[in-house]
Amino acid sequence: MNARQGSGGSPDRPARSAALRSWFDTSAGDRRTGPADEERIDWLRAAPFIGMHIACLAVAWVGVSATALWIAAGLYTARMFAITGFYHRYFSHRSFRTSRPVQFAFAVLGSASVQRGPLWWAAHHRHHHVHADTPQDPHTPRKGFWRSHVGWFLTRAGFRTDPSRIGDLLAFPELRWLDRYDTAVPVALAVSLYALGAALQRWAPALGTSGPQLLVWGFLVSTVVLFHATVTINSLAHRWGRRRYATRDDSRNNWLLALITFGEGWHNNHHFFPGSARQGFRWWEIDLTWYGLRGMQAMGLVRDLKPVPAWVLDKAGR
Ligand SMILES: [Zn+2]
Ligand SMILES: [Zn+2]
Repeated sequence: MNARQGSGGSPDRPARSAALRSWFDTSAGDRRTGPADEERIDWLRAAPFIGMHIACLAVAWVGVSATALWIAAGLYTARMFAITGFYHRYFSHRSFRTSRPVQFAFAVLGSASVQRGPLWWAAHHRHHHVHADTPQDPHTPRKGFWRSHVGWFLTRAGFRTDPSRIGDLLAFPELRWLDRYDTAVPVALAVSLYALGAALQRWAPALGTSGPQLLVWGFLVSTVVLFHATVTINSLAHRWGRRRYATRDDSRNNWLLALITFGEGWHNNHHFFPGSARQGFRWWEIDLTWYGLRGMQAMGLVRDLKPVPAWVLDKAGR
C-alpha cells in the first residue's frame, strides 16, 4: 500500500498518519502526489492552523486585561520584525549581513510566528519573485483573493520546501532543524505564556490575568492577527495602491499595508529593487523594519545594510 491519497478523496491510513506526524515533523508529510493533488488544500495537515483560528473564540471566556493586550502587542511587534527584517530581508534576499548567533536568534523568533521555518519561507518567497503574478506564482491574487491570502499556504505544494532555491541556507544545521520541527518554537511559546499567566495570577493578582488568558491573547490572537497582516502583502499589495515602477508584476505601494507590516507595503518599490534592506524609498515612506535594522547596525548586531542605489531613487522622483 502506498502513502498517497486515494483517488476517492479520503486519505488512506498511512497518508492520515503521515499527515498527523507532519504536525510535528515536516519531513514526515512530504509525500509526492499527482499535479492535481498538489494544488488541493491538505485539510488534515492544516487542521492545527485552522484550529488556532477557531480557538480565538475563547476570548469570550478568558476575559481581557491590560497585561494580556500589552503582551499580545509586544509579541506582534517582535515577531513582525523578525519576519520582515529576517525571514524576508535577510534570509530571502540577503540584503545585509550578521553573525551566526544573531541569525539563529531571529530565526527562532521568526519561527514563533507560525509561518513555518526560515528555509521554507525563503524558498517560497524567492520563487514568488521569479514568477510573480504568472501561473507559477502560488499566491498571485490573479488566482483569487482567498487562494492568494491563505489557500496557497495550506496546499500540498504550499507545505513543501524546494531545496534548490535555498542552497546558501542549507549549510546551517540549526536552521534545518527549525524547518523540520517548525511547530517546536510555537508550542514552547504557547506553554511559556500559559505558565507566565498562571504565575502572575498567583503572585500578582492585581494584574487580572491568568494562564488561559495569556495563552489566548498572547499566543492565539496575536499570532492569527500577525499571520493575516503578513499575507496582505500577497493578497492586497498586488491589488491596492500605486505603481511607481512599471514592474512585470502587479505589485503596489500602499501606506496602510506598510504601517501594519512595518514597511513591507512599499511592495512595488520592493519588486523593482528587491536587493536593498530598505523598502520605503522616500523619507516619508515609513519603513519601521528599516529603522529597526539601522538601530541594530548602530549596536553592532548587523552590518552592510544594502542601500537603495541612486539610479533607483532617481527613477522614483523627488
Ligand atoms: Zn510580491
Ligand atoms: Zn521579497
